[in-house]
Amino acid sequence: MEIQSEVQSRSFVKIIGLVLVVFFLGAGLFMLSSEGFERNKPVIKTSLEPSWNLNGDFFIYLSDDTGIKDYRVSYEGDLKESFLPTKMAPFSECPFVAKDEENGICLAIEKPNIPTKNIQSLNLIVEVTDKSKWNFFSGNKTLENIAITIDTKKPQLAVVSNSYRITQGGSALVIFRVEDENLEKIRISNGENEFIPQPFYKEGYYISLLAWPKNNLAFNAKIYASDTAGNVSVAPINFFAVKKEYRKSNISLTDSFIDGKISSLVEEIGDRSLESFVDKLSIFKYINEDIRQYSEKHIMQAGATFSLETIEDFQISAFSPLKNAAVTASFGDHRTFIYQGEVVGYSNHMGLDLASVKQAPIILSNPGEVIVDEFIGIDGNALVIHHGLGLSSLYAHLTKSLVDIGDKVERGTIIGNTGNTGLSLGDHLHFGVLVQGYEVWTAEWMDSKWIENNITKVIVEAKGIINSL
Ligand SMILES: [Zn+2]
Repeated sequence: MEIQSEVQSRSFVKIIGLVLVVFFLGAGLFMLSSEGFERNKPVIKTSLEPSWNLNGDFFIYLSDDTGIKDYRVSYEGDLKESFLPTKMAPFSECPFVAKDEENGICLAIEKPNIPTKNIQSLNLIVEVTDKSKWNFFSGNKTLENIAITIDTKKPQLAVVSNSYRITQGGSALVIFRVEDENLEKIRISNGENEFIPQPFYKEGYYISLLAWPKNNLAFNAKIYASDTAGNVSVAPINFFAVKKEYRKSNISLTDSFIDGKISSLVEEIGDRSLESFVDKLSIFKYINEDIRQYSEKHIMQAGATFSLETIEDFQISAFSPLKNAAVTASFGDHRTFIYQGEVVGYSNHMGLDLASVKQAPIILSNPGEVIVDEFIGIDGNALVIHHGLGLSSLYAHLTKSLVDIGDKVERGTIIGNTGNTGLSLGDHLHFGVLVQGYEVWTAEWMDSKWIENNITKVIVEAKGIINSL
């Protein structure tokens, strides 16, 4: 009996042991395969060359597969490690991160309470723990030192020269200098819209055309330069701003106009059938609102996309696209459409209509690159040619284009023939000028005297000043 029970208890221990081994193996396998036990450490991201002006907050981005459980930020001070208060910030404050991750946190770190004078660098210590149950439920930990350059110097910003005046609807030029070791971004605002300058002539100098779009009531131009440490400088550009009244007119819509030109344009565009509209007015509204908006946006985007390489010089001649032409509609005309006695829509005519003989040759007055060559709703067959410095010219309603997209076209080239495509009544050329995508007063760019005074002289004056420094 005794011998037997000893044998029994031994095999009992063996079985228990086997069960435990199986249990721990299983648990181990479960932990290895389970997300809850992941072993990836949290990731800490910051800008490529971290710098801080110790004015606002400093931003870092924390991310992890399972989520962040805990974090703390301290800095190495003179005597001991000191903790810094932090708060969650919107993702947009961490522009150095491509996309906001599901478990990501953009963290704003408050500045240490130390005198900023004579400090050149700061060492941040960031400790992050994730929600993983790995490491006996304590999680994966990342400890990182971030060396930050302290930069309290604002970018130096000075206007070198600019056009003396700008007219509502029109254009102007500015050349300026920016100096900063950690320069990040320069932008120019007219109070409502932004313009991107490009490097000019010598290092540290920039040039940009500006527009005062016709429908903006005021014009207030400023240059903003910011560095990676968060220092921002602002410089006003002093223009003599002249308001201009543009013509207003009423146009009565007839059924025959909607049944004719408008309806055939709907069919030509081909996105909607005429049967899908409830009445004549909705056909007109589709063209005047949806298609017009699409066309304007398309042209604007094309004109706003240009290379920002260093520009050595910019020479431009007065545009004169059509010989012996009569003006049939002016730039800036504001049209109110009336149908059956009621106002049913508006439009702004943002170019100049020129008519001569049918299918007249269109002459390119300035060299450039073809950036649009296609049928665009309202504009019909249209060409846009970029002449450098974000200045483009638009030719619409053509019968045909004689150039191709990407072509570098010389001055004097016949680029196409006038026509009646798009929203057009009779063979004519709709000529437009764009400054970084904004349609501007064509008359200025067709006037050699205006170009001389407002563009050429500004460049010559700037070069003189730059060379004398
Ligand atoms: Zn027109």
